[in-house]
Amino acid sequence: MDLANESPRLVLTGAGHAHVELLRRLALRPALRRAFAAIDLIEPEDTMAYSGLLPATVAGHYARHDMQIDIAALARLAAVNWHRGRVTRIDATARRVHLADGTQQAYDLLSLNIGTEPPVVAGDHQSHVVPVKPVATLWRGLARIEHRLETARAPLRIAVIGGGAGGVELALALAYRWRRCRPNPRIDLYHRGPALLGGAEPAAAETLAQALCDAGIGRHPEASITRIASDTIASDDGRIFPADAVVLATGAATAPGLGSRGLVRDAQGFVRVDATLRSVEAPEVFAAGDIASLPLPRPKSGVFAVRAAPVLADNIERTATGRPLRAFEAQPRALALIGLGARRAVAARGWPIAPSGYAVWRLKQAIDQRFIERYDAGKIARIMHRSGV
Ligand SMILES: Cc1cc2nc3c(=O)[nH]c(=O)nc-3n(C[C@H](O)[C@H](O)[C@H](O)COP(=O)(O)OP(=O)(O)OC[C@H]3O[C@@H](n4cnc5c(N)ncnc54)[C@H](O)[C@@H]3O)c2cc1C
Repeated sequence: MDLANESPRLVLTGAGHAHVELLRRLALRPALRRAFAAIDLIEPEDTMAYSGLLPATVAGHYARHDMQIDIAALARLAAVNWHRGRVTRIDATARRVHLADGTQQAYDLLSLNIGTEPPVVAGDHQSHVVPVKPVATLWRGLARIEHRLETARAPLRIAVIGGGAGGVELALALAYRWRRCRPNPRIDLYHRGPALLGGAEPAAAETLAQALCDAGIGRHPEASITRIASDTIASDDGRIFPADAVVLATGAATAPGLGSRGLVRDAQGFVRVDATLRSVEAPEVFAAGDIASLPLPRPKSGVFAVRAAPVLADNIERTATGRPLRAFEAQPRALALIGLGARRAVAARGWPIAPSGYAVWRLKQAIDQRFIERYDAGKIARIMHRSGV
């Protein structure tokens, strides 16, 4: 179709950190909505879990609804047709996406913001494995562990796998959440390589290692876990460790299992895009957040998804209206504020020292709350009402 002459049909896949901004803009700018013949959103969940608040919510500092953005309400305000579903295959050649329920959706423009899920570790005992994403699965898994904690006579042994910011923060949050459980569970953190955070932030890693030690969490470096059995886990060098339950926070190593045709993807399955966030092979496909493989690689982190959001929104509009696209200039690193379980956090940004403590926690709180408030459907509806939208 000639996008410059006809209004395109836009399909948004996944309501991740970048697409919530697009929904907000669509709600506040009717002219933007009118650039499209129809807009569809395909997303399995009715709320989006804001990752910045996940560990603090696990620790119990927030209620679950505090970290959620109401996707159904945002879609309504943006006049977007929300399909509760999961895309299983993208056919960029035929310009169609296939959904898990067997239906298909045609598009003129497609935008992907579906994040990642931790890669599956082989084993016959997946029932006691709790992946940190999707977040709904995490809550269900934690409920199962807590049921066992209530009836356990001996301390349950919980293995957290992953030494990135997410894994360490989650291990500390779990230790804080279960600090009063008797018998107290034994938590161990397993990670590849010698250092936490992949060795990228030595000062912050030192603070985190001390926090793990203070919380009584065992740390097992150079332990690449490749197999999970009923009450043990095994590393690739043949070591066996006890584990009654396993929390997988192995990060954004692979894109979610998704078939595709006519899309160039990198070795991990992420969709290769150019500087404008457009697929290098299919110009009608955009991708942002963890699922995008940028020309200059950036860490898989919500911060980059949030930063990409305005450029993504602009470029989708520019494509629909036949204007030149602009580049996403992502800075090489972002400030990471990592919770330490109790109301403390550590800041990392490649500095030789890593400030930590209550003040850093307050800063993290302020940033996270500002994000959640920005996408509060009630607040957006009031702005729309005031401005006569
Ligand atoms: C414990 C933990 C703590 C973290 N803390 C931070 C932090 O403090 N700061 C930070 O910047 N990053 C943090 N991260 C990383 C962060 O979670 C991710 O980088 C971020 O969520 C990626 O955002 P996204 O927009 O790409 O995707 P997501 O936020 O993951 O959103 C993807 C959306 O797509 C939907 N979806 C998935 N598959 C499909 C499909 N096939 N079809 C349709 N929809 C689909 C999902 O339901 C979801 O709503 C943390 C990660 C973890 C695990």
